[in-house]
Amino acid sequence: MRYIEPHGHMVSRTTDDYHDMATAGCQVVCEPAFWAGFDRNSAAGFYDYFSQLTEQEPKRAARYGIQHYSWICLNPKESENLELAEEVLSIIPEFLAKPRVLGVGEIGLNKNSRNELKVLEKHVDIAAKHDQLILVHTPHLEDKLKGTRLILDLLRNDSRISPERVIIDHVEEHTVKMVLNRGFWAGMTLYPESKCTSARAIDILDLFGTDRIWMNSACDWGHSVPLAVPRTALEMKKRGYSRDVIDKMIYRNPIEFLSQCPKFKVPEE
Ligand SMILES: [Zn+2]
Repeated sequence: MRYIEPHGHMVSRTTDDYHDMATAGCQVVCEPAFWAGFDRNSAAGFYDYFSQLTEQEPKRAARYGIQHYSWICLNPKESENLELAEEVLSIIPEFLAKPRVLGVGEIGLNKNSRNELKVLEKHVDIAAKHDQLILVHTPHLEDKLKGTRLILDLLRNDSRISPERVIIDHVEEHTVKMVLNRGFWAGMTLYPESKCTSARAIDILDLFGTDRIWMNSACDWGHSVPLAVPRTALEMKKRGYSRDVIDKMIYRNPIEFLSQCPKFKVPEE
C-alpha cells in the first residue's frame, strides 16, 4: 500500500509514529498550521512555530523517507485578539514563499464569531494576492453546518478564488454534498470518536463517490490515530472497494489536488 497523509499535525507526534506511518506506506505528509492546545501570546511564538513547520519538521520526516510539506496561517481559535492576529498575518507571506509550503491553511471558523470571520476574510485575501491553495477547517458539532455555509459563501463571493483550488476539511454527512456541489474539494477527518469514523467515511464514499475527496487522520495532540488512513483503506477493502479505487482515494486524489501547487513533487515510484 502507498498513501499520502494530507493533514497531520506531526509536531505533536513521536518518531515512533513516523516509523509506523512509513512502514504502512506513507510517502508524503502535509501539516497545516493549527492551534497548539493553548493560546500563543506573541507574534514571536507564531514565528517560531512556522519556522518549526517549514524547517525542522521536514528534516524529522525525511529520516523516515517521508516528504513533509506545510500550510501556514493563524488558526480560527486564535482570531479573537485582532491586534495579535494582524501582527501574525503580516509575517505569513514570508513563510508562503518557503519551498515546502503549499498554501494558506487550515483557516476557517471555530465558533463562527465576528472576529473569526474578519480574520478568515484577511486570510482569503492573502491567499488570492499570493496565488495560494487554501485548506479550510470547518467547525465542530452544532456549529458545523452554519459555519460551513458561511465559509462557502465567503469563498464564492470572492471572484479571485477558484473552488477547485480549495479543500474544505472535516466534512461530515450533512456538509459533504454542499461542498462538492459547489465545486470544492472535500476532506474527511478520521477520528476514533468525533468527526468521521472509518465506517462513516466509507458510507459517505458509497453515497457521494470518490471524486474530489480525500481522507486524513489529522493526528494532533488530542485523541487521534496517525494510521487512520491506511486502516480505513483496509476497511474499504473489506467493504469491496477495488485496489485501484483505494489507491485513488489515499494516494492519487491527494496528488491531484496538491499538484496544483508547483512546489509539490509527486513521490518517485
Ligand atoms: Zn488540523
